[in-house]
Amino acid sequence: MKVLVINAGSSSLKYQLLDTDNQEVLAKGLCERIGIDGKFTYKAPGKETIDAADVAMPTHSEAIQAVLNALVDEKNGVISSMKEIEAVGHRVVHGGETFACSVKIDEKVMAALEECIPLAPLHNPANITGIKACEAVMGKDVPQVGVFDTAFHQTMPAKAYTYALPYEYYEQDKVRRYGFHGTSHKYVAQRAAAMLGKPLEELKLISCHLGNGSSITAIDGGKSVDTTMGFTPLAGVPMGTRSGDLDAGILEYLMNKHNISMAEMMSVLNKKSGVLGVSGVSSDFRDLTAAAEQGNERAALALDMFCYSVKKYIGAYAAAMGGVDAVIFTAGVGENSAAERMSIASGLEFMGIHMDPEANNVRGKETVVSTPDSPVKVLLIPTNEELMIALDTAELA
Ligand code: AMP
Repeated sequence: MKVLVINAGSSSLKYQLLDTDNQEVLAKGLCERIGIDGKFTYKAPGKETIDAADVAMPTHSEAIQAVLNALVDEKNGVISSMKEIEAVGHRVVHGGETFACSVKIDEKVMAALEECIPLAPLHNPANITGIKACEAVMGKDVPQVGVFDTAFHQTMPAKAYTYALPYEYYEQDKVRRYGFHGTSHKYVAQRAAAMLGKPLEELKLISCHLGNGSSITAIDGGKSVDTTMGFTPLAGVPMGTRSGDLDAGILEYLMNKHNISMAEMMSVLNKKSGVLGVSGVSSDFRDLTAAAEQGNERAALALDMFCYSVKKYIGAYAAAMGGVDAVIFTAGVGENSAAERMSIASGLEFMGIHMDPEANNVRGKETVVSTPDSPVKVLLIPTNEELMIALDTAELA
């Protein structure tokens, strides 16, 4: 089945057309600066790449139309008519407690999505706009499916998702741990089971999605039982620009001392903290590695803090599950940085994790990076959220 996967942001729209029968990517690209001056990119194997500026895209509808025009274009297109697209899968950031799995979108679902806006005020409105734009351009007959970043984590037990706050904040305000990157954690868990040749239901996995945003998830029997991100994606390990876990008392102290507002404080925590904040160099791990190699102590400290934090969660989640069969590394840093994988996993030999430095000297390839006799396997698995969204969409459509 040919499925169009859409990841709509407030002024951008990422797309991929996939054939779920052979899991092939037929075309992909990005619409950027929607509502500003419209930038459009398109790539399809064997076709001319398009990288166009000043494409009229006042709203997401024109962006979707530009995508469809490119896909059916006589010269560079990959399908002969829009009718070949049998379903559209949308990445939706927050499904609250309403959505524990992907859903076919109808009026009721749209209403529930609107209700989730307060939980993700920056992301969900853009996702909803993307869905409405697809319906406006493609019509009501093409099934649309919502795939939620939070859904995979809805299996967490109350002891993992409840914050130690007055209980009415959970009951009335829905303040709890939701977790994110669910589509990625779910995908790599399935791949891990295939690589290990064992049913997912029999495995205890710790999945480390380490990118610009990072989260670690404990997956017991295929179900998320704990995860590091929380009510928002700000929690957990230090990230590119996000602080990760923090003593909430620091907020009051800094806000009073420097006379800064809550909005400014949140901007610091989301955009100026993490490895960028500590190093003062960059949020990009490649820049940090280069700076650390040149003797920059704060860049080295930022990398150390990141790896130490991930290591601690691996220990914590092994304890939470009563063991672990495999640790998975995925996303930009997890897939590409042999040094970070090594630094995180070294010292964990006591719990059966033995890295193979030679096997670990690899990038972006599905492979085992622990020694052949390591009791706990360490796996490198490139994530593929688009494929996961397309497969869920095909199944529901
Ligand atoms: P993602 O959010 O999954 O796209 O990951 C993006 C991050 O991956 C960037 O911030 C980089 O720091 C990191 N990254 C990409 N390539 C490498 C590499 N070769 N070594 C270390 N980090 C990398």
